[in-house]
Amino acid sequence: MFLRPTTLREATQALAEGGQVLAGGTDFFPALGTRPVTGTVIDVSLVGELRGIDFASDHVRIGGATPWSKIATATLPRCFDALRAAAREVGAVQVQNRATIAGNLCNASPAADGVPPLLILDAEVELASSSGVRRLPLKDFIVGNRKTRRRADEILSSVVVPLSLQDAPSIFLKLGARRYLVISIAMVAALLSDDGNGRVGAARIAVGACSATAQRLLELERDLTGQSLGRGLSSLVRNSHLASLAPIDDVRATAAYRRDATLTLVRRALDACLEAQL
Ligand SMILES: Cc1cc2nc3c(=O)[nH]c(=O)nc-3n(C[C@H](O)[C@H](O)[C@H](O)COP(=O)(O)OP(=O)(O)OC[C@H]3O[C@@H](n4cnc5c(N)ncnc54)[C@H](O)[C@@H]3O)c2cc1C
Repeated sequence: MFLRPTTLREATQALAEGGQVLAGGTDFFPALGTRPVTGTVIDVSLVGELRGIDFASDHVRIGGATPWSKIATATLPRCFDALRAAAREVGAVQVQNRATIAGNLCNASPAADGVPPLLILDAEVELASSSGVRRLPLKDFIVGNRKTRRRADEILSSVVVPLSLQDAPSIFLKLGARRYLVISIAMVAALLSDDGNGRVGAARIAVGACSATAQRLLELERDLTGQSLGRGLSSLVRNSHLASLAPIDDVRATAAYRRDATLTLVRRALDACLEAQL
């Protein structure tokens, strides 16, 4: 059965009866391979509450079925620059017009481009079911390679970003085997805020495609906080700051190359954040 609900209530009620959620289909269909679709499919792309970006005084809410092309072109505070840059790197424009932010998070690929920029924004996800709505920090939602804490009856209805560092510049750097339409070998999102005295008020750095789930480099963030916001900042990044990563060898790159490339990407991302501060 193929259902196309237009309200979140209809969608959650349908899902309570069982079935699979479909949004843009850009991960859903490739994952099937040559197998046919079985069971009930609930296409959420017409659900009004799941689309669009809303602003409040202390947060921004992005509907789960918002396509990447809308995020790429939205007018958003500066701290979202990394997310908007990542949106422009998801496949190509045709993919970005269909593919959604919730699909990227629920598919939970280690190489999902949306995750590192949302981790540095301290994003949370809202999960709606026929029994209510719950909210989880994104860092706790994705728990492994293609594993999340979403229950089978839940729809990721929105991504909520608190506006604590809205004027801080943020950067997203993606390394692939070619420039466009490529899955990441490694990617880095970084955000630096000025404490008002020329020092780092907050540093947030996340790395994707180098462990089962993208992760923040918390020790590096601590070491950078309070440092002078000057040219020498990126030279403070050491290999030991990447110790929590667990890159793998695969068809795209070796683990050693990923680690090496990540060190360079983190340093470049910090340099680019500094440039953007000026
Ligand atoms: C050619 C091509 C290139 C690509 N390039 C990139 C790339 O560069 N970077 C990248 O990160 N990804 C890439 N992708 C993967 C994909 O486009 C993204 O992950 C995209 O954001 C998935 O969104 P979707 O709406 O298409 O999800 P779908 O395929 O519809 O769904 C994906 C999964 O999430 C679940 N789901 C979807 N929406 C919800 C919801 N609201 N609530 C609960 N569960 C939900 C589905 O049940 C399914 O399990 C590419 C895909 C293709 C085909």
